[in-house]
Amino acid sequence: MFLNPITWPEGKRSAACVTFDIDADSLIRTARPEDAELRLQPISMGRYGPTVAVPRILETYRRLGLTQTFFMPAWVMQNYPETVEAILKAGHEIGHHSWMHEDPMEHSDDREAELFERALEVHVAMTGRKPRGYRAPVYSFTPAMLNRLIEHGFLYDSSMMADELPYLVETPKGSLIEVPPHWGTDDWPPFAHFGEIDYLMPIRAPSDGIRAFAEEFDAMHEAGGFWMPVLHPFLTGRLARWREMERLLERAMEAGDVWFAPMEEIANHAKSGASTLRRERIGMEG
Ligand SMILES: [Zn+2]
Repeated sequence: MFLNPITWPEGKRSAACVTFDIDADSLIRTARPEDAELRLQPISMGRYGPTVAVPRILETYRRLGLTQTFFMPAWVMQNYPETVEAILKAGHEIGHHSWMHEDPMEHSDDREAELFERALEVHVAMTGRKPRGYRAPVYSFTPAMLNRLIEHGFLYDSSMMADELPYLVETPKGSLIEVPPHWGTDDWPPFAHFGEIDYLMPIRAPSDGIRAFAEEFDAMHEAGGFWMPVLHPFLTGRLARWREMERLLERAMEAGDVWFAPMEEIANHAKSGASTLRRERIGMEG
């Protein structure tokens, strides 16, 4: 089923991590910096994430005994310190997700490096350590950023899509583990409708949107693979969608043979078996 299968810990059949990117109102502020302050609707839609949805999500995780991963732009961490505190208190991981959801293609790499490091300082100040993982805003990931992560000793990235299982990415600077997302388990296509950034999609029924994720889970579980939804609190944290997602998580946990773990643990486990991982070389001959 897989060219480079991974044996999961504790005799589990498959691995899973639900990831939430808490972008909040950084999205509209970065997309429309000249007048975002006047756009209260998208600002409020973003604010719903950390203020209403994240407490709901954390309560579900507490009830189910799950420890998972959140990615946050540092600007969001600074503006929603209670959210950071609640996530850390429950033992979840927070990964690096840019400074303010900026696109590296829209400025120089020097500027990108400056924003990356400024965000790193916020992580250290607010969480007490450097993050181990990174996810690029809108998966907009560059070779320069890949090398920057390697130079800073990051364990993993989660922005590229060259496989379904975690794989090893090598560059002339070194290597890291890629924990690959894909659009089929991302909640923007089924659930987002965001006129101000020209993202206009027909919204799916909650059961339809989550069913797509469930089918991905079932196939991965059967094959001994890895399932990683990329969700956003302002989308999947809405009541009816989250109810569907809770049912899916309950069903996945009832099976008893799924290894749910934060991304850091998944990447560490993959790294421990690096010799058998699929390899992708970027910026190297052959
Ligand atoms: Zn994001």
